[in-house]
Amino acid sequence: MNCKMINKIFKDTAYIRTGGTKEELACAEYIKSLCAEMGLEARIEAFPITMYETKTARLVVDGREIPCRAFNGSESKTVAAGFYYLNNLSSASLKKCKDKIVLLGGRLTFSIYDKLTENNALGIITYNGNICYRDTDIEQKEICFEHKAENRPPIININVKDAMALVKANSKFAEITTQQSHYIGESHNVILDIEGESEETIIFSAHYDSSSLSIGAYDNMSSCIALLGLAEYFSANRPRRSIRFLWCGSEERGLLGSEEYCAMHKAELEHTLLNVNLDMVGSFMGVFTAFSCINEQMADFMTKFFKKQRVAAEVKYKIRSSDSNSFIRAGVPAISFARNTMDGTHTIHTRYDTAEMVSAKTLLTDIKLIAKFTEIFANADEIPLSLEITDEIKNDIQNYFKRKTRAVKEF
Ligand SMILES: [Zn+2]
Repeated sequence: MNCKMINKIFKDTAYIRTGGTKEELACAEYIKSLCAEMGLEARIEAFPITMYETKTARLVVDGREIPCRAFNGSESKTVAAGFYYLNNLSSASLKKCKDKIVLLGGRLTFSIYDKLTENNALGIITYNGNICYRDTDIEQKEICFEHKAENRPPIININVKDAMALVKANSKFAEITTQQSHYIGESHNVILDIEGESEETIIFSAHYDSSSLSIGAYDNMSSCIALLGLAEYFSANRPRRSIRFLWCGSEERGLLGSEEYCAMHKAELEHTLLNVNLDMVGSFMGVFTAFSCINEQMADFMTKFFKKQRVAAEVKYKIRSSDSNSFIRAGVPAISFARNTMDGTHTIHTRYDTAEMVSAKTLLTDIKLIAKFTEIFANADEIPLSLEITDEIKNDIQNYFKRKTRAVKEF
């Protein structure tokens, strides 16, 4: 891996590749072909996934039509009601949602959804974006939690500029029409094995899909390139334990690729020692960050390692919302790496996540550092610390997956 190659890969993958689309598959095949160029044979593993087709998504407020997108998994129906902007979750404000179409100031989680349906909200509007940016992009959102309410409200997303205009205009009356169908499609994981002397395996993971507005250079082609660099390194420096590289599909749709991997490879997980997950590395202005999602001993071990390497890095003992969580849930200890950016120097899930945010040079530095750290676990006679996952982490994981839906949803 070198700067020229890194820049070429960013250029070749500068397209949106959401989970389950032909663009996502094209990217999987591209990653496989890059492995082949290094003389390594990767394979593509398909898994079923629920796909959506929105026929109608329409929002009219006080006679004016507002551009919108229906959430994937939204109910198909027409509702017309008074408009209400919910800016806090006090019971007094929630009561005012009754028989209203509610503009929500925040992310739609299952607990907020429950509160809204318990209070008989008839429709839900969310928004994305930043009032200071020029774009009027609308993100394709998805309902990623089980929602079995009797009278499901239609759920749509709009741009923040329109959201603010609606509040400013003191809007009175709204009408939402959504019509959507679904079918079972396919998403894909890419797998590459470098066999060591033992069956015991370390799995590197990084998602290669993007969200609906983004070409995802930083999030997360950067880590996909890092995995290619690590594959190159470990094929030249054969590890004692086996190493598997997993480029996950459909992470942005709810960690679906890694969850499916864990479900499809249960027997192999028994001899999986460690998951090393990468999500967003190589940024120009950022600090290298290591997450121990195992225990405090691992966090201490990481701190000592970075000190020895004379690398200024941050170490955190916590889980993060990425593919590592699927492994932890399946009982595999996991760590995760990122180069966390400074305020104002990054944005993800938007049109602004381009290769300009990422430095090929920094990415090469990150690859070397991750290789050096992982090598300890790949080659040690005995693992130098306990990899027992604490109850604290297990608890966080349980909460994280509470009511989260799987790749194929029940309707
Ligand atoms: Zn990501």
